[in-house]
Amino acid sequence: MTHPIPISAVDLPDGTEDLVLEVLRSGHLAQGPMVERLESQFAEMTGAAHAVAVSSGTTALVAAIEALRLEPGDEVVTSPFTFVATLNAIIEAGATAVFADIRSDDFTLDPDAVAAVVGPRTRALLPVHLYGQAADLDAFEALGRRHGLAIVEDAAQAHGATVAGRPVGRAGQACFSLYATKNVCTGEGGVVTTDDHDLADALRVLRNQGMRRRYEYEVAGHNYRMTDLQAAVGIPQMERLETVTAARRANAAALDRGLEGVAGVTAPFRQPRRGHVFHQYTVRVGPGSARDRDALATALTEAGVGCGVYYPRVVFDYDCYRESPQVRASGVPNAELAAREVLSLPVHPLVTDSDIDRICTTVAHLTRFG
Ligand SMILES: *Cc1c(COP(=O)(O)O)cnc(C)c1O
Repeated sequence: MTHPIPISAVDLPDGTEDLVLEVLRSGHLAQGPMVERLESQFAEMTGAAHAVAVSSGTTALVAAIEALRLEPGDEVVTSPFTFVATLNAIIEAGATAVFADIRSDDFTLDPDAVAAVVGPRTRALLPVHLYGQAADLDAFEALGRRHGLAIVEDAAQAHGATVAGRPVGRAGQACFSLYATKNVCTGEGGVVTTDDHDLADALRVLRNQGMRRRYEYEVAGHNYRMTDLQAAVGIPQMERLETVTAARRANAAALDRGLEGVAGVTAPFRQPRRGHVFHQYTVRVGPGSARDRDALATALTEAGVGCGVYYPRVVFDYDCYRESPQVRASGVPNAELAAREVLSLPVHPLVTDSDIDRICTTVAHLTRFG
C-alpha cells in the first residue's frame, strides 16, 4: 500500500524550536515582544500601517466588526460560500448577516450581486479571499466609497495574496487566521491589519478587556490576546512565506498539467492580475465525471489521496441559522452549485512531484470508470 497523501500538513522551519524555547526560558509567556515581532511581519507583508494579533481568525473578525461600532440591525454583506466562522463572527458582533451570491468562476463574492442587496441599513462589506485567491477588492472599495461602507476582508486563507501586485490587507480591516491548517500557522491565532489609526486603536483596546490603562475600561471588551508562545511558532514561517507560496503555486501548476483533459474535472480559475496563494487547490467535479463529487471524494480517500469538500453547503443552510433574526438568507444559485461540485486536492509544500502524478492518475481513473 502506498503512503496516504494528506490534504494538509504542518511543516515548521528550522529555528522554530529555538524561538519557542527562548519564550519558555524568558518567563514571558503571554502577549509580549514575540507578538510584537509577528505583528511587524504582518504589517510588512500587507504594507498596512498597523497589525493587531489576536487569539484566532474568528476573534479577528469579531473585533474588526465590533471596531465599526454597529447598531443592532445594521447589516454586513458577505459571501454564502465560506467557512462558518465568517457568519458566526457577524452574529457574535451583534450585526445582521446579509448574503449576496458568489461569481460563477472564482468562488468569491460577486460585486454586482452585492450592489443589488446594499440597502439603508448596510454598514460593511465582508468579502472572503477564498482558497487563497483575492476577491475583487477594487470593485468592493469603489462600492464602499459610493455608499459609505466599511470593508472587512476575510483573509484567513490568503496570506500574501495580491490584487494587481498589491497585497490584500489594506482595503479597510483584513482578518488573517493562523489556525493549524492555514498557510501560516501557530495552532490558534489571528491578525487584523489596517491602515486606519483609530480602528487599530479600537482593536487593541477590544482585545484587552476594553482597557487602555490598567483598570480603566472604555468598552466591554474581550480577552482576545495571543501568547508569545504562539507568536514564536509563526515568526519563522513568516520569514519564509514567499518560498512556501512559490511551492504551493508550482504544485498548483503541476496539478493543472496533470488534470488537463480529464473529463468532468475543471481546474481552479485564476483571475488575471491576482496573486493566488493556493491555500487550497479546488476543482469542480461536473457531469462529465463517472462519479459525482461525493463518490469521488470517498474513492480518493480509499485510495490514500487526501481531499476535502470546502464547503458542502452554503453557510446559512443549517437549522441553527434559519430562524435567526441576524441572518437574512436568499437565493444564491452559484454558491449552491459550487457547494455540490467543489473538491480540494493536496497542494501544500510537502506534496512531491510523484505525489502529484499519483493524485492526477487516481483522479483520472476514478472519474473515467465509475
Ligand atoms: C479559518 C477561517 C476562519 C476562522 O479562523 P480561525 O483561526 O479558525 O478562527 C475564518 N474564515 C475563513 C474563510 C477561514 O478559512
